[in-house]
Amino acid sequence: MTEQYQHRARKRFGQNFLHDAGVIHRILRSIAAKAGEHLVEIGPGQGALTEGLLGSGAQLDVIELDLDLIPILTAKFGDNPRFRLNQGDALKFDFSRLSDGQRSLRVVGNLPYNISTPLIFHLLEHAALIRDMHFMLQKEVVERLAAGPGGGDWGRLSIMVQYFCRVEHLFNVGPGAFNPPPKVDSAIVRLVPHAQLPHPAQDPRQLERVVREAFNQRRKTLRNTLKGLLSAEAIEAAGVDGSLRPEQLDLAAFVRLADQLAAHNPSAGEQTP
Ligand code: SAM
Repeated sequence: MTEQYQHRARKRFGQNFLHDAGVIHRILRSIAAKAGEHLVEIGPGQGALTEGLLGSGAQLDVIELDLDLIPILTAKFGDNPRFRLNQGDALKFDFSRLSDGQRSLRVVGNLPYNISTPLIFHLLEHAALIRDMHFMLQKEVVERLAAGPGGGDWGRLSIMVQYFCRVEHLFNVGPGAFNPPPKVDSAIVRLVPHAQLPHPAQDPRQLERVVREAFNQRRKTLRNTLKGLLSAEAIEAAGVDGSLRPEQLDLAAFVRLADQLAAHNPSAGEQTP
């Protein structure tokens, strides 16, 4: 038996290890890593994806939190000079440490589902250093990431991620591909940070603020939900119909609202973390 069977999957680390060779190959084909590239794998686990990623000839940094997995990863890959193991919490990891200042990092991971949203927000802070990201996530989260305006999936996550990235829902993966199988369906998503933002806001923190406030009560009209932030006149000045509900607005309209907020209350963004 290989080392794989010596490690018991831990729920608190969100451990669902991939074992379906077909799914692993499909993920690796989607990433299509090449020699000379710089990959960063979050949560390598027992190395299901790591082996194929290293096989591409790319430089690979992995970030793993579970101390028990460190000797397993070291035994499998430690001899490879292109492999570098970083033990720690990806949520606190300073990705700029790995960067050469170019938009070069290719981030990948079958993410622990309990931290996937905060981790994506953390990575977006380093969007300028990232070429692309490929993640396995809960299918429901991928649907929200890739959603367009007008439906129930369109919300804070879709808008803030699409502000920074192009989003592609690549394919779905059933629970049977993992050990132990999760209770939910999963999907692979590709996020490609925009080289130039299609709808730049004067202050992205105010975009975050206006979006959060708008979707706090998604069934109400914008005039009502944004009462505490923007007057009816300011909403109108943004070219937005205040009688619409937040899910009917596209990203560009939210950016215009954020810019109104910046114009009327320049320090407002500083209050958000
Ligand atoms: N990549 C492996 C695979 O596909 O089989 C493992 C995927 S498993 C869903 C998630 C991995 O992320 C586990 O190895 C877990 O220990 C690790 N992990 C959990 N929380 C983490 C964190 N905050 N930072 C880095 N790794 C974490």
